[in-house]
Amino acid sequence: MSTLNKNIRIIKISLYFINLLVFINPCFSKENNSQQYNSILERLNRAKDYSKINDQIFSIIQHPMKQIIVSLPIVMDNGKTQIFKGYRTIHSNALGPSKGGIRYDKEVNPDEVNTLAILMTLKCAVANIPYGGAKGGVACNPKKMSEGELERLTRSYTRALGDIIGSKKDIPAPDMGTNARVMAWIMDEYEKTHAIKDIAVVTGKPLMLGGSEGREGATGRGVALCTLLALKKLKISPKKAKIAIQGFGNVGSNTANFLYKKKCKIIAISDRSGCYYNKKGINIKKASEFKKRKGTLEGLQGVIKANCKKINDLNIDVFIPAATDNMITQEIASKITAKVIIEGANNPSTIETDEIFKKKKIMVVPDILANTGGVIVSYYEWAQNNQEYKWSLQEINKRLDDKITKTFEEVFRISKKYNTTLRTASYIVALNRLNEVYKDRGRF
Ligand code: NAD
Repeated sequence: MSTLNKNIRIIKISLYFINLLVFINPCFSKENNSQQYNSILERLNRAKDYSKINDQIFSIIQHPMKQIIVSLPIVMDNGKTQIFKGYRTIHSNALGPSKGGIRYDKEVNPDEVNTLAILMTLKCAVANIPYGGAKGGVACNPKKMSEGELERLTRSYTRALGDIIGSKKDIPAPDMGTNARVMAWIMDEYEKTHAIKDIAVVTGKPLMLGGSEGREGATGRGVALCTLLALKKLKISPKKAKIAIQGFGNVGSNTANFLYKKKCKIIAISDRSGCYYNKKGINIKKASEFKKRKGTLEGLQGVIKANCKKINDLNIDVFIPAATDNMITQEIASKITAKVIIEGANNPSTIETDEIFKKKKIMVVPDILANTGGVIVSYYEWAQNNQEYKWSLQEINKRLDDKITKTFEEVFRISKKYNTTLRTASYIVALNRLNEVYKDRGRF
């Protein structure tokens, strides 16, 4: 055999073994610097065998479809130019236009954005709404920026996204650090730069600009509803349950308000300034008014400021993480005494906690089920914009409540059928739906 043929043979054998490795070990194909993203892939792998997903389709779902990184030079109020990094990942658009929030936070990075984008694909599939998944963000500290700086940053980010977004392509919404005001700027800049009227390019807009009734409180309403549904399954009276909520922004405060109106006892709340508790229950109406006025819970009357690590000593029944990703680590999970955890935030529990909660028999209502309220009402907003028609708050809330209840019951049924956690069950539901849609679309 010539040296050339010998080398070709060695290369062929090596390729065979590399392929075999990729086949038997999906981790081999995982991308670098993607710790959070890989933990979602691991959770998907756990659900795969219970689902009907085809291997080829499963491999497509493992990769984000499109990732964009932009540099945004912004003239700050002091006259100096600062460069910000902006991101947008479209994970999938098989179910419909991709959908996902825009986050303004100093920790925003490609791994986080990719992770939140794949979670959006799964979330829309679980809720059975015609959207794919996406996420975006800018690494910045919005609390330290003036309104003018935020507007310039938002308009610059919108221009940089160019034709990526669009009401029939990819539709942003608010997330941590952004709100209806930011959505209005995105919509306005998009319409100006494209010389068209297209209010459905974003959801979560102000009411006067085509926003939907009920959108602002929708995620919290859904989280609260899941809390009540979970308590019912566990045969715990909601009025007797002791509840702790981590994070008091859009999701945390709206969840708290909904549960408070249902006479639930919320004994601990927190924000970046610390944790606050009152064993007899916190007056959430007053806490919300205080937070709105001061922008922080620091200084709230009628509560005791506590060490956040001690919250579990209060013997809580329900824990609702509604702050940000990866807040519940292995160490924290091992101390949690609650009977149920409702994930208001996206990806709040690290992968290592799954086994801990399973062993402790703590019911975890996962993010892709618990916080779907926001994207469901975003879908209603988009549908209203496309019809150029407005639905009443009652109609929105009724549709939302029915949808959340139906989705929760379906996931619960699957978890019983396969004896899995609610997280794995919701991944099974998502995978089955994605399998159908990719199959029906045909070969790629
Ligand atoms: P937000 O910015 O309005 O509020 C975040 C809250 O968390 C603030 O009160 C902040 O002080 C608090 N926080 C941050 N770090 C904390 C810490 N270390 N300890 C305690 N509190 C802390 O954001 P939001 O819109 O309420 O989003 C919260 C979570 O919910 C995020 O994970 C987001 O992706 C997810 N989510 C939001 C929506 C939505 O419609 N806004 C929808 C689905 C999921």
